[in-house]
Amino acid sequence: GGATRDRLRIAIQKSGRLSEPARGLLASCGLSWRESRDKLFCYGETLPVDLLLVRDDDIPGLLADGVCDYGIVGRNVLDEVGADRALKGLPQVSKAVRGLGFGGCRLDIAIPESAEWTGPAQLQGSRIATSYPGLLQQWLDANGVEATIVNLSGSVEIAPRLGQADVICDLVSSGATLTANQLKPAVTLMTSEAVLAGPVTPLSDVRGDLASLLLRRLDGVLRLRD
Ligand code: ATP
Ligand code: ZN
Repeated sequence: GGATRDRLRIAIQKSGRLSEPARGLLASCGLSWRESRDKLFCYGETLPVDLLLVRDDDIPGLLADGVCDYGIVGRNVLDEVGADRALKGLPQVSKAVRGLGFGGCRLDIAIPESAEWTGPAQLQGSRIATSYPGLLQQWLDANGVEATIVNLSGSVEIAPRLGQADVICDLVSSGATLTANQLKPAVTLMTSEAVLAGPVTPLSDVRGDLASLLLRRLDGVLRLRD
């Protein structure tokens, strides 16, 4: 936890799939901002709620360090950090407090189009390329499978063609990327959407009141969108 502040700070993705929907959702909650010249920081005008515009992968760390109080991030990113902390025996610091209904996708294991899927046991001894080593390891453990995780930060879907891995574990929405790489989905490890991530222990200073207010408004907006 960071120092006491009298303004709430929310981290959102600077540019990418979640940026516009995240800002739109917060604007629907009655927030408006003045942007800094470097467009990294948005100063809240209607309420003391500021935005930090960052890479989505940085959001869990900013929450853990207390630099930000809340964040809008894919459940996949939040749970990967959670899985990594759990595997290391570290306590959880953030949790998903609301599902936001956009940014939907799945974390799937995908296999070559020509292969047949018979179940987790067929992955025994295989090499699996992924950017989600923590979630994959948890799933392998739960299924009693020993495999080699090839940790890649990007271009996971081409790893089988390059001979780096036998199969992949990656985010899928339409499946077009898989098809383009002669892969097909075999099994889903998790379904994901954008979530509002926040502290495991509620904020106690004025930020707690701001968070309650924001959550009440958010619930109203989400109900209308259903
Ligand atoms: P950044 O520059 O912030 O690191 P990024 O390339 O990691 O950006 P995006 O591709 O914009 O991030 O994806 C952000 C989130 O959108 C993902 O973490 C995931 O929750 C969600 N998402 C929805 N559909 C997909 C998809 N088909 N592929 C990847 N992410 C998806
Ligand atoms: Zn990212």
